[in-house]
Amino acid sequence: MHKELGIISCGDLLNHFPFRHIDKTKTDSIAGLNAGKDFAYVKGIITSIETIGEGRGRRLVARLKDETGSIDLVWFQGINWIQKILHNGKAYRAFGRLGFFMGMPQIAHADLENADENIQPSGLEPVYPSTEKLKARGMHGNAISRLTKDLFSRLSPKDLPENLPNSILEKFKLLGRYQAYRQIHFPATEEEFSQALRRLKFDELFIAQLRIQRMKLHRHRFSKGYIFENAGPIFEQFYKDSLSFELTNAQKKVLKEIRRDTMTGRQMNRLLQGDVGSGKTIVALMCMLIAAGNTDGDGRAYQSVFMAPTEILARQHLESLSVALKDLPVNVRILTGSTKAKARKEILAGCADGSINILIGTHAVIEDKVIFNNLGFAVIDEQHKFGVAQRARIWKKNKLPPHVLVMTATPIPRTLALTAYGDLDYSVMDELPPGRKPVVTTHRFENARPAVMDFIKSQVAEGRQAYIIYPLIEESSTLDYENLMKGYEEVKSFFPEPAYWISMVHGRQPPEQKDTNMQRFVAGDTHIMVSTTVIEVGVNVPNATVMVVESAEKFGLSQLHQLRGRVGRGADQSFCILLTGRKLSREARERMQVLVATNDGFIVAEKDLELRGPGEIEGTKQSGALNFKLASIVHDKAMLEAAREAASAVLEADIELQLPENEGLKNFLLQQKQKTAWAKIA
Ligand code: ADP
Ligand code: MG
Repeated sequence: MHKELGIISCGDLLNHFPFRHIDKTKTDSIAGLNAGKDFAYVKGIITSIETIGEGRGRRLVARLKDETGSIDLVWFQGINWIQKILHNGKAYRAFGRLGFFMGMPQIAHADLENADENIQPSGLEPVYPSTEKLKARGMHGNAISRLTKDLFSRLSPKDLPENLPNSILEKFKLLGRYQAYRQIHFPATEEEFSQALRRLKFDELFIAQLRIQRMKLHRHRFSKGYIFENAGPIFEQFYKDSLSFELTNAQKKVLKEIRRDTMTGRQMNRLLQGDVGSGKTIVALMCMLIAAGNTDGDGRAYQSVFMAPTEILARQHLESLSVALKDLPVNVRILTGSTKAKARKEILAGCADGSINILIGTHAVIEDKVIFNNLGFAVIDEQHKFGVAQRARIWKKNKLPPHVLVMTATPIPRTLALTAYGDLDYSVMDELPPGRKPVVTTHRFENARPAVMDFIKSQVAEGRQAYIIYPLIEESSTLDYENLMKGYEEVKSFFPEPAYWISMVHGRQPPEQKDTNMQRFVAGDTHIMVSTTVIEVGVNVPNATVMVVESAEKFGLSQLHQLRGRVGRGADQSFCILLTGRKLSREARERMQVLVATNDGFIVAEKDLELRGPGEIEGTKQSGALNFKLASIVHDKAMLEAAREAASAVLEADIELQLPENEGLKNFLLQQKQKTAWAKIA
């Protein structure tokens, strides 16, 4: 059938859902159309047809007139075809998305029906998405509707057997599967449509949850993992002598959760979410010390790997770990893309013979050449920067998969986390170390720049440091790069040497240079760090108290929150200043307002989700778990939660789906599995 929309079977046709229905007995009056309406269904006479414009701007414009006014019907593609079928002076009904051009209502690529014939349409008609290509071949939404009608005339309930257990249908008052399919395509009333929609959305969410939770339960029950019997001597010594502060309750809670996991004999696979600055690194470190203090049956200590998304970050982790561990018998090394051949050789040997306890690095640490003697624990910092495949490689680094702790400082809302990462166990640190003052965030227009620079001077006079960030959305974008350089020159003119020293870091620098510049700032040798977002994640300079973001409107919410998280890491009051142009889109303005209003990463994340939708949330794009046809994790949050609980209850009672009550479910999953396997072959 039609590959264009991915419709290749009857099942696909059933699942090609109408995006709305229109009551074809009622048309809109053209004069009554206004910008508040998404779609228009109008009836009138064509009074003119003309093609205008050249090349890509060429379009066909037909004017349709009813008793109240006129609307333009516009086509950019398939012009020849439309010219053939559209006749001046004849009556048509036109349906489509309503737009306005210079105050004139218009519909681009309308669905057309001849209205001269004396056939009166009746009831609710489904409106299906089509594509321009299909339309150009005459395959309008209308034609899909005819095919679907035809299909239903031959379909009976046994062709669409029930998949949900009865108890769930009853509890949530859901329609049966067959009825739901029928009604979503051809409802008699709006109410019938929304009932059907509700059932099928629930279906989608429930099945997705069932799958993902089943993976987790299987791991809990059947996977094998290394056992860390006790916290071990290294951990104990660190806790007693080296830890320079009291852990927060959140940190203690998470450590306990991980301790429990690593004693069960099952592999741990845990997601740790914590706002920027909540102190995830120390938790990870202490876990690695537990690993180092435990041995396997052959008396070999467990090694750990700590993977960071950038070289800068890896170096910084090495630094802070080395300081924290200086009196402990722990051998920590770093491996990155720029590690020199001689050191690399040494490190590979140390990993293989077990003399290295902790290997820090970038994705260089998961390359095949890196062979561990006995890898027992893996930490993936800022996991959204890594792909699923990279994570999977860690699993193969020992006989049994090591325990995996995945950390993210881009908080995502709980519902989203549980949906996208439902196969992982989930920990949250919702508490900042004591004594932190919330960062004061302000939004200023660019003409305030001199005042902002003066403010930085006053902070520097008190011994503090500052970041000034320029957008470099694409490291390769020359325009952004020039902006950064221009910005740097400007900053230099505000802050002349030798009274002030400036570091600059960006993605085009060779790693050593990046490193030196970064280190000078970390060491307090420079006052100001001019940078792109390469410092976005993880960088920890507690003495920095000012974060200025240039062209802040170009950044997403969670990215801005991340950047803000670079300050406020010490005891001093910190400031984040968002500089933008005066002309802002409504959405950009809202983003600035959110940041000014709250410091809470989880609230920022919720807002981000609302403003951008789940597709854009970092790290969830590849997960696929969020791509629902009907349901929306933004708008159907409550239903998602209900589906999640329902799925968990079913599995809790019957993980293998062997009870008669779950037979439909089991068959459905098997069938789906075959289908996907088949699709892979075909
Ligand atoms: P993040 O969660 O963003 O990765 P870090 O682990 O970098 O945060 O920690 C931020 C800073 O807070 C570090 O300087 C760290 O030493 C410090 N820190 C962590 N835990 C505590 C604590 N319980 N009390 C005081 N300071 C802490
Ligand atoms: Mg961190």
